[in-house]
Amino acid sequence: MKPSVLIIYTGGTIGMVQRPGDGSLAPVNFDELSKDIPMLNEFGYLIDSISFNPVLDSSNITPDIWYELARTIEENYEKYDGFVVLHGTDTMAYTASALSFMVENLDKPVVFTGAQLPIGILRTDGKENLITAVEIAAAKINGQSKVPEVCIYFNSKLFRGNRTSKIDSQQFRAFDSRNYPELAKAGVEITYNLDLVNKTTNKGIFRVNYKFDTNVVILKLFPGIQPSVVDSIINIEGLRGIVLESYGSGNVPNSSWFTDLIEKAVKKGIVVFNISQCVGGRVQMGMYETSVNMQKLGVVSGNDMSTEASLTKLMFLLGQNLSIKEVKKYLGQNLKGEITL
Ligand code: ASP
Repeated sequence: MKPSVLIIYTGGTIGMVQRPGDGSLAPVNFDELSKDIPMLNEFGYLIDSISFNPVLDSSNITPDIWYELARTIEENYEKYDGFVVLHGTDTMAYTASALSFMVENLDKPVVFTGAQLPIGILRTDGKENLITAVEIAAAKINGQSKVPEVCIYFNSKLFRGNRTSKIDSQQFRAFDSRNYPELAKAGVEITYNLDLVNKTTNKGIFRVNYKFDTNVVILKLFPGIQPSVVDSIINIEGLRGIVLESYGSGNVPNSSWFTDLIEKAVKKGIVVFNISQCVGGRVQMGMYETSVNMQKLGVVSGNDMSTEASLTKLMFLLGQNLSIKEVKKYLGQNLKGEITL
């Protein structure tokens, strides 16, 4: 049996061309894109493709697109050995994180990739990204997928999707995962770090959970932030969760106005999730005097989670009909390899 891979094209720079007139980049359909990659046939795999309509610059991605993507995978799950998702780089880490929480009992790879330069351009990074992503999506060991995870392949590295952030808008090295090592590296050979890959211990039936609650906000602290700003955020009608991007290891101003407002939020039933503005390291509430109050108020530690994974995990858990106590409990737990405990 030939390995089989489904390429799902959502849009992004990889498939963009310059529009006549203003010269801005806009995505084109998959037929045009695939003309530039005839070498995919050389794998000898069964490769099919599905294109979103319309195709999107990933700045336009919403949870509705996460649902459409998850549904496409669900409908085709039994037919393919693996999936490659072509996606714009701007919000790729959000979509990969969201999808990692949505899927249960995933035992096949879902490899996101894209490009910094369109595939029709001579110096494109898109060809290597796509070709290697397809090879990873098809890779097996003893009949099992080597990487049965939602991951991002970019610029010769395979990262766990919910550990990844976009870190550069110009260099081919657009993504990084500072708090979790790469799952594979592509050089002359593709070297897999199989010890770091999530094992599929659960052999249940693959299924997708489509519920998210978008009544959340990211509050990034900065020196000079005004009480009125924090107060207005807390008073947003229907707000249920705040990802608090604090300093360093989870530190916040310990002025009384800030503590009082966070206390007010917690009392209103808003879940406050504390993550660090640093891309590496982790939140350790109680390490400095400036985080003790947060700990006392019941703010949840995001430990070493990325902003993208924190936001989507919060949206996901708030969508699950759980009590606030349960949301807080699961936020702090490792659901899909997104947090180091
Ligand atoms: N704006 C593009 C997008 O996210 C950037 C890219 O794909 O690199 O769709």
